Amino acid sequence: MHATIPHWINGRPYLDAAAPKLPVEDPATGEQVAEVTLADDATVKIAVDAALGAAAGWAALPAARRAQALYAFRELVRDHIDELAAMITTQHGKTLDDARGEVTRGLDAVELACGVPGLMKGEMSEQTGRNIDTYSTLHPLGVVVGITPFNFPVMIPLMMASVAIAAGNAFVLKPSEQDPGPALRIAELAQEAGIPDGIFTIVNGQRECVEALVDHPDVAAVSFVGSTPIAHSIYRRAAEAGKRAQAFGGAKNHLVVMPDAPIESAADAISSAAFGAAGQRCMAISVAVAVGDIADDLVAALKQRTEGIRVGPGTDPATEVGPVVSRVARDRIRHLVSGAVDAGAVPVVDRSRIEVGGHPGGHFVGPVLLDQVAPDSELYRTEVFGPVLAVVRVDTLDEALELIRTHEYGNGASIFTRSGNAAHRFQREASAGMVGINVPIPVPVSTYAVAGWKRSRFGDTGLTNASWTFYTQPKYVTSRWDDTVAGMDFGFRPN
Ligand code: NAD
Repeated sequence: MHATIPHWINGRPYLDAAAPKLPVEDPATGEQVAEVTLADDATVKIAVDAALGAAAGWAALPAARRAQALYAFRELVRDHIDELAAMITTQHGKTLDDARGEVTRGLDAVELACGVPGLMKGEMSEQTGRNIDTYSTLHPLGVVVGITPFNFPVMIPLMMASVAIAAGNAFVLKPSEQDPGPALRIAELAQEAGIPDGIFTIVNGQRECVEALVDHPDVAAVSFVGSTPIAHSIYRRAAEAGKRAQAFGGAKNHLVVMPDAPIESAADAISSAAFGAAGQRCMAISVAVAVGDIADDLVAALKQRTEGIRVGPGTDPATEVGPVVSRVARDRIRHLVSGAVDAGAVPVVDRSRIEVGGHPGGHFVGPVLLDQVAPDSELYRTEVFGPVLAVVRVDTLDEALELIRTHEYGNGASIFTRSGNAAHRFQREASAGMVGINVPIPVPVSTYAVAGWKRSRFGDTGLTNASWTFYTQPKYVTSRWDDTVAGMDFGFRPN
């Protein structure tokens, strides 16, 4: 009998015995480890009603009181890093070390949100007219929804929830149905920390549940992270209903290696960023752009590393690359690799059909290094979301920048160089929202934001410190305290 992962409504597990369930697998074994219950419209309504019932009381608390609960939450999440990491590894597949890193990055967002008393501030101007002051105050929206992807089952929920809740909203999370377990544990910890019932709610499900959440009249705003086609459709649906939306989509991150770059450290950085988490990071490097005569030496250095990477279950401390999330993902990645080779890419290393001893049912795809990938090929245009690194050779930085400019996605882009001129030009001209200079995965700290460009993001706000404006609305107050003012005036005058 497998554990059934329930919803979390009003501070309690919520199960509808008759509701359909989906299996949750351990990607390292392919075996079912749990099942998750799926919400329909009626369950979504119960969840949103509970959130709405709690929202006003939470919003009315002083920000410092909300911050106290978040400080307690931060301590509890920190105390449970190992437990959360183990849950991530069991349901997602990434290594324990990587999973701990994920929780730590999530904590970065909780720490940011603890600063709510200093961060959620309006503005004031005195004497904007005679004895008139003008000021703005920030107000939470009410019930806000977060829909999250499988690849960061703790970090992305924490990035959304902590700022949304700190700002005074009730937050309803719809985690990925592929690895929903860790989110439930976070909700339990939030309750233990003193975040009131109904302020952190979870409903599990798929499309039906997501659409019911987006359509619900009491849901004021929708944050989404996932693949671009779904991001676009959620953004469109929420906007059509007159709601605020931010939807973060897929990526194809380029790392440009200039001829003067230190080859060994660049190859280390590229390999780690391309193959870490089996390439299932929105900021993974999937294209290495070799500029000029560095290409042969770079490919040789990458080949040596790609051949040596240890693939295995995430629970084995020796493993560097774990399985991908599902059999469907594994087969799709293999198909894209064989299609690329048929289309003319050179398979320098192809470990995509790797067998891992003792894990016959695991969804393993070993690292793949493809050289001379054509920019018009499917593999180059598509987000593979697996441990596949494409090398594209160009002659100049201009050509590298043009590749980045013309790609559909614009999440991250990096350059490795010793030239300040090249780095500075890249920083200004690369058409991506997050840029790295001699840093392969330039995910900014929470005091900045996570936000791509082009079809990697729909909407105009980022996550973390850029989302205070998303999760609040301003009110502008014009105020006069002057009892000497009298007399009617039918004009519309400047103050
Ligand atoms: P996904 O789009 O399949 O699923 C994301 C969420 O949407 C899940 O909760 C899922 O249940 C839900 N969903 C799936 N199909 C739906 C539908 N038809 N209607 C409504 N909801 C639906 O994405 P995934 O495979 O879980 O995650 C990987 C993707 O997320 C990659 O494309 C990756 O680049 C992207 N991602 C982006 C960022 C970023 O910051 N831009 C961060 C992490 C992941």
